[in-house]
Amino acid sequence: MGVEKRRKGVEIGTDMGEEGEEMGMDMGGEGVKIGLEMGGEGVEMGIELGGEGVKMGPNLMKDKVRVVVVGGGVVGVGSALAVLRQIPQCSLTIISSQFTPHTTGDGAAGLWGPHLSGDTPEDKILQWSHDTFQLFRGWWLGQEGKGAGKMGVSLVNGITVSDQDSEYEKLWYKIQLSAEQITPQQYSAYGPHIRSGISGGTFTAEASKFLPVLLEDVRQLGGKVEVRKLSSLEEAGAEADLVINCSGLGAHDLVPDPSVYPVRGQVMRVQAPWIGNYLCDDSDDKFAYIIPNQDTVVLGGTHQENDWRTEVDPEDSRTIWQRCTALIPSLKRAQVVREWVGLRPARRKGVRLEADYIKVGSRTVPVVHNYGHGGCGVTLFWGCGLEAANIAANLIHKHYAPTSRL
Ligand SMILES: Cc1cc2nc3c(=O)[nH]c(=O)nc-3n(C[C@H](O)[C@H](O)[C@H](O)COP(=O)(O)OP(=O)(O)OC[C@H]3O[C@@H](n4cnc5c(N)ncnc54)[C@H](O)[C@@H]3O)c2cc1C
Repeated sequence: MGVEKRRKGVEIGTDMGEEGEEMGMDMGGEGVKIGLEMGGEGVEMGIELGGEGVKMGPNLMKDKVRVVVVGGGVVGVGSALAVLRQIPQCSLTIISSQFTPHTTGDGAAGLWGPHLSGDTPEDKILQWSHDTFQLFRGWWLGQEGKGAGKMGVSLVNGITVSDQDSEYEKLWYKIQLSAEQITPQQYSAYGPHIRSGISGGTFTAEASKFLPVLLEDVRQLGGKVEVRKLSSLEEAGAEADLVINCSGLGAHDLVPDPSVYPVRGQVMRVQAPWIGNYLCDDSDDKFAYIIPNQDTVVLGGTHQENDWRTEVDPEDSRTIWQRCTALIPSLKRAQVVREWVGLRPARRKGVRLEADYIKVGSRTVPVVHNYGHGGCGVTLFWGCGLEAANIAANLIHKHYAPTSRL
């Protein structure tokens, strides 16, 4: 068995040479190759990195590396699936106090667009949102048997206007379909406060539809799912060789990370099948959005920082209704189906996606943090999951080869 660093490409193959049988998996980019080789001399299992050749003994393969993912929201489930695909020989459990339909993503409209992402570096936003856009595109095209209806993914056109200068220069707009700036004549129709506007096409992906499918994929790959509230990351570490922390707002207490805070969002879902395009006013004082999903249209919203209230506020309902019906008067005929509040898991420095360590008794357990996705966790979750899986594969190689145990 060998792990080999490669520059590009993904290779999964079986090679039956003269000397015996070799089965291997090669994950490209920064990835690792993990395989099994049955040579004429017997069975050899190991990890090999480039020319250095670190071997991993059969015991580790018998005692699978135990990965615990903390958090069952889009970020946790996405990370779990990415890990199981990249490191199929690990045993993985997602532990979470809530799963779909009770996670933050379940109520979100799921519009692809990296808004409210704190100070996350732009190159990271670009990479993670691009990877997720490609995933949604694949679902929309029906790849892997995952059709648009089943996955809750829709292609929508629309306009975002703002009282600020145009954000069109932001690189992620290049990922969107046919994004272009609209003229002052066009955007002034949305109010005298508007100073810019961008039209374009993007996806909405409804987590309440795709999360059950992804959780089933996790189970199919041998992953387990456990409903439990953890009192610390160490509690997870006691049952794991590696922890992936996707606890969202829970990271405030679990890590603990005091820079994690809620951005409260209230929305209503209405029956308005005649609404086919999205319309967002990003202006601070007149923040409002109308985003069609497959069965309902989402009217929003609020972004109240450090507000932990999870109950519907009637005053917010009135404001949302008044602003959205002012933007599209025909919405006055729409029937309200549901109101909902979610707390966006924001972090001052933006998304935290990096390796760390915790002490669990006499052991040091590696951790991959993946939290703080604020208002764009649906937009970033798959790209972040892929990167979390890469970091996890490297940590497993580094710390669980026999010569380099923690
Ligand atoms: C109103 C609203 C609209 C939004 N619209 C969009 C949008 O259009 N596009 C977009 O990209 N994003 C949107 N978002 C943001 C997006 O929903 C979030 O960024 C995303 O859902 C965060 O996912 P997560 O998995 O990190 O967090 P969560 O879904 O909150 O999951 C965290 C998980 O950790 C678990 N957990 C926490 N602490 C513990 C513990 N101690 N023990 C065990 N389990 C624990 C929780 O039970 C939960 O399952 C919106 C959010 C809101 C509120």
